[in-house]
Amino acid sequence: MTDVDETAALERARELVADSERIVALTGAGISTESGIPDFRGPQGVWTRNPAAQALVTIQSYVASAEVRQQAWQERLNHPAWSARPNAAHRALVDLERRGKLAALITQNIDELHQQAGSSPDIVLELHGTIHQTVCLQCSDRRPMRETLDRVEAGEADPPCRLCGGILKSATISFGQALDASVLARAQAAAESCDLMLAAGTSLSVHPAAGLVGLAADAGATVIVCNAEPTPYDRIAAEVLRGPLGTVLPSLL
Ligand code: NAD
Repeated sequence: MTDVDETAALERARELVADSERIVALTGAGISTESGIPDFRGPQGVWTRNPAAQALVTIQSYVASAEVRQQAWQERLNHPAWSARPNAAHRALVDLERRGKLAALITQNIDELHQQAGSSPDIVLELHGTIHQTVCLQCSDRRPMRETLDRVEAGEADPPCRLCGGILKSATISFGQALDASVLARAQAAAESCDLMLAAGTSLSVHPAAGLVGLAADAGATVIVCNAEPTPYDRIAAEVLRGPLGTVLPSLL
């Protein structure tokens, strides 16, 4: 696409946004790369650089192997989310909400940068959970992540639940784990009742999250995809914008 084509597509997409009253955004790791958190599948993605790393995030390997858990705690300790700050793309979605146009902000991200930017927790639906809390796989006790990271720093390589001795994990959804049914139901209802679905910074390759775009389109919504690389849903999108989100979303919204 030439610069002229990009500008024309942006202009048409802006008109679609102006004509919409009930927008739902679906965001992915790509909205946080400009905040310093790498995605998984982009050119600099964690799995693009090290495909073996994907095996570490299945729930089966996490439960079966103390070694995998110890490695996971070290990665959590050094996770870029602790120092990351929201960027202009997160803030553009806050502005859209303040203008009364954003009905729901469905995110696959676990970094809470939408809430830190100022998006209302009421409209943020975290499909894949949050890294800011831990959950016990046995008794479901939830606590702030910092509490457990302090224990790891103090020398516990794989800290057990303080209440029941069960395995602790970040409150995120690993491969092999079901999504929270009530969060998913709210996301589906939002997708089915929006007039514009805006997918931003997601490869749209993880289901059921990606399927929300098809659900919205089937219910009559217009689709805009903002992503640096092609996605399987580009063909049903009214407009596709490829530029960096920190620039594209503020201009679009
Ligand atoms: P993904 O890694 O599959 O895809 C990200 C997409 O964003 C890529 O296609 C990439 O080209 C695009 N992208 C990256 N930076 C961009 C930018 N600045 N502007 C425009 N496009 C950009 O991510 P996904 O679809 O969210 O799925 C990955 C899974 O990983 C999700 O389930 C999510 O839970 C998890 N994840 C979350 C974070 C986070 O919370 N920040 C980070 C990594 C992975």
